[in-house]
Amino acid sequence: MSSMNKLSATIRTFHSSAARFKKNVEFTAVRYPYLKRGNYSFLSDRHLGFFQSILSPHQVLTDEINDLSGYNVDWMHSVRGSSRLVLRPKTTEEVGAILQYCNAQNIAVCPQGGNTGLVGGSVPVFDEVIMSLGLMDAVISVDELSGIAIVQAGCVLEKLETILHLNNLTLPLDLGAKGSCQIGGNVATNAGGIRLLRYGNLHGSVLGLTAVLANGQIMDCLSTNKKDNTGYDLKQLFIGSEGTLGVVTQVALHCPSKPTSVQVGFFGINSFDNVLETLRLSKQNLGEILSSCELIDQSSLECVTSQLKLKSPDLVNHFPFYILLETSGSNADHDAEKLNSLLEMLLKNGTIVDGTIAVDSTQATNLWTLRERIAEALASEGYVYKYDVSVPIRQFYQLVDVMRARLEKLPIRCCGYGHLGDGNLHLNITSQEYSSELLNKIEPFVYDWVSRQRGSVSAEHGLGLKKRDYIEYTKSPTSVHWMRRMKKLFDPNNILNPYKIFPGTLNE
Ligand SMILES: Cc1cc2nc3c(=O)[nH]c(=O)nc-3n(C[C@H](O)[C@H](O)[C@H](O)COP(=O)(O)OP(=O)(O)OC[C@H]3O[C@@H](n4cnc5c(N)ncnc54)[C@H](O)[C@@H]3O)c2cc1C
Repeated sequence: MSSMNKLSATIRTFHSSAARFKKNVEFTAVRYPYLKRGNYSFLSDRHLGFFQSILSPHQVLTDEINDLSGYNVDWMHSVRGSSRLVLRPKTTEEVGAILQYCNAQNIAVCPQGGNTGLVGGSVPVFDEVIMSLGLMDAVISVDELSGIAIVQAGCVLEKLETILHLNNLTLPLDLGAKGSCQIGGNVATNAGGIRLLRYGNLHGSVLGLTAVLANGQIMDCLSTNKKDNTGYDLKQLFIGSEGTLGVVTQVALHCPSKPTSVQVGFFGINSFDNVLETLRLSKQNLGEILSSCELIDQSSLECVTSQLKLKSPDLVNHFPFYILLETSGSNADHDAEKLNSLLEMLLKNGTIVDGTIAVDSTQATNLWTLRERIAEALASEGYVYKYDVSVPIRQFYQLVDVMRARLEKLPIRCCGYGHLGDGNLHLNITSQEYSSELLNKIEPFVYDWVSRQRGSVSAEHGLGLKKRDYIEYTKSPTSVHWMRRMKKLFDPNNILNPYKIFPGTLNE
């Protein structure tokens, strides 16, 4: 197996298929008529004049057809705002000046990173001004010895990864959207991804950050200390706050050493009980080198291979379940030996029926592509009803079966895949186009089911607009009450990403 360097350069790059751009997306305000615009100012020439006075022309976009359309529509093509202005600050101070003015003038703002979010959080609902962080993309410093990188929030994840690799470091997170998503967006959503099993989530990896509050005040929490127990750890509030508490402008990230040996295996499995047994034995036998354990069901594999014309792995048969396993370590012979003996053991005791281990980086890339491009393949089928839930590991796949039974006649497909090692299932139902009847059949049933298992209605994608009404299926009323109070404290005029995270209005 060749080194990680080559692997990372080629795999898991975000693909923007042409199919994504074929749809005419309905305005959010039309699709969800119960949403009411807040009592915010409408953008005037005077407002525009102010922004033009503090920013350069290329930082102020107003051309609705040529400039704004991409910023107003989400990656899934499922929600569409009607913003008339995109602002592209280059510094924390510019973010501060913009927000101070918006707060004083009662102008609502939607912060936007790479716009790869999957819950309708990154685009305006009505005419909020879009603040795009894309021009704040500098990697400020990387220190191999301490493993600390400091970056501006708009830095695209893949760019950061490339620079880290040159310094013998790697990212503690990795996801299919890494060619477009930004570190600020990742922090704002507390993105999980395929390495969480190994490196934990961003609450642990982010050492510090700078955030600009709704009133323009700059909160400097850009510590690089790994240990700092002085009072409340305020940076944690911004991790997963989805642009509602402040705009993240800089991040200090703890980055692990780059593994020099990466192995990828792909196993075909006949039952979900054996999927669980494979996970158990993999953890037991691979120990610290296990870096990913992803589940793909037959329908997901069928979708990604047929929609994107990709080749299925060379296994003897089709299986109801597949596991993609990755190890990362520092000794190729040792790691390969461990993975090969695991494969042998699983085959011998009948836990898996067939399996393959990538012999080179091209094969490894091909196997990862099958997992990483499922979201894109599903999107190309039409409308996707997407659920990203945490459930106890033994119930991981049950929801897919329950949903198939409930829907009786499937629109196109109902499939499940996801981060098995973290108990994070991606349940997806696709239909040719959006249907409110189908939606009503799925929701709130799906959230009710997850809640009864004491799971989470959003494991890693956040709540955004689409899941906001279901926050109480996972969080207690007391928790939500204090979250609302926190929002009020940080953003009393509710100008930052209104309509997101909380149901109803914040004054309720
Ligand atoms: C193909 C594909 C695969 C994906 N895989 C995963 C996965 O494995 N794991 C996972 O967790 N997610 C995944 N996602 C979802 C998405 O990529 C993540 O949520 C990502 O972290 C969003 O980053 P972004 O820069 O695109 O943010 P955006 O989509 O632009 O914004 C997301 C939210 O963050 C806010 N925001 C953005 N930047 C800032 C900022 N600087 N300050 C304050 N708020 C901000 C926005 O207002 C919005 O609420 C995937 C998406 C796609 C399309």
